[in-house]
Amino acid sequence: MSLKEPTSIDECIYFTQRSIGEGKVKAWVCKEKCPKCGKALMGKPKDEKTGKPKIRAKEYQCPECKYIAEKDEYESTLKAQIKYTCPYCICDGEIEIPFKRKKVQRFNEDRGKKETVEAIRFQCSKCKKDIDITKKMK
Ligand SMILES: [Zn+2]
Ligand SMILES: [Zn+2]
Repeated sequence: MSLKEPTSIDECIYFTQRSIGEGKVKAWVCKEKCPKCGKALMGKPKDEKTGKPKIRAKEYQCPECKYIAEKDEYESTLKAQIKYTCPYCICDGEIEIPFKRKKVQRFNEDRGKKETVEAIRFQCSKCKKDIDITKKMK
């Protein structure tokens, strides 16, 4: 398998690149054509006044036929493509998984307690350990 990396962030509805311990991960989800008319790429609806996409919108819209898809439902039909260096066994890998965020528990070292965060979880193809791409914390 060889993943085609996006040439621009405009091609993606999701893009992240970060270090996880000794490893690193790059993940993206490409925009896909409208499931109804197939003429245009689905994206966040645009603000009529500014013409800029409404990042926080809870839906995606086809700019051609105006078909609207609910955000979570639509995203779960898409595929997240991931290139990674496993933080546990330091091997390189590539994987494609459904773009779905799950609630996972992790230990927050700053606060000294467990917390639940949303993450895209996948398993290293070699050592089978879970690798989580958590939502960025501020
Ligand atoms: Zn359409
Ligand atoms: Zn591994």
